[in-house]
Amino acid sequence: MAKILKINGLEKTYTSGSKQLTVLQNISFEVEKGQTFSIVGPSGSGKTTLLGLCAGLDEPNSGVIELCGYTLSNLNEDECAELRNKEVGFIFQNFQLLPTLTALENVSVPLELQGAKDAASRAKELLEKVGLGNRTQHYPSQLSGGEQQRVALARAFSNRPSILFADEPTGNLDEETGEKVIQLLLELNKDAGTTLVIITHDLDLAARTQQILRLKGGQILTNETTPNS
Ligand code: ADP
Repeated sequence: MAKILKINGLEKTYTSGSKQLTVLQNISFEVEKGQTFSIVGPSGSGKTTLLGLCAGLDEPNSGVIELCGYTLSNLNEDECAELRNKEVGFIFQNFQLLPTLTALENVSVPLELQGAKDAASRAKELLEKVGLGNRTQHYPSQLSGGEQQRVALARAFSNRPSILFADEPTGNLDEETGEKVIQLLLELNKDAGTTLVIITHDLDLAARTQQILRLKGGQILTNETTPNS
């Protein structure tokens, strides 16, 4: 099976003043193309830091990260950004929509910036897919949390990513709305083969993925395949 993400011997230390805090140590794991993969662990165990490193948003102190066949340390900043634009999608707990743009624009503007000619029609199609065809002209403040997260999903899907990183995608949603978002994510994985790497506190959600990586104190506690694989 092809690996879309390979992490080997990762270490990350934050420096603040004279203090050094090692937040990730001795991290090695692999994610297969098309896999659903979750990262769980207590608050402060290094999950968000790890996701940022995997996506090339930050650099490790040591170790090797291979994403979509590229060794990230061999890429310059522009090449890394291009790889992200082409291959990677992101979803965050707090949605991170631009408040001054409508739902449609939140999806279409990034597409335009990437040079898509049919940005508006594609954005509309994506919003329809997540059940928001009737909310395209609404601003984020006029949408519920669940609706905002679905706009964020539409935006994350828009570049047809090979891999989607989601940091607590249901963290701010009630159970029913969270379930809708999970369904959309799992559907994307099934229909488009998008690899999902999801940070979650929700062990029921983790149990629905194929692999669960458990972190504690910046180290891997377990890395287990679930019966779904
Ligand atoms: P989790 O996502 O599991 O809650 P994080 O990756 O957010 O964990 O944080 C891991 C540790 O790294 C925490 O102790 C946090 O305070 C620390 N940390 C995270 N980001 C920074 C930063 N930019 N500078 C210094 N320390 C940080």
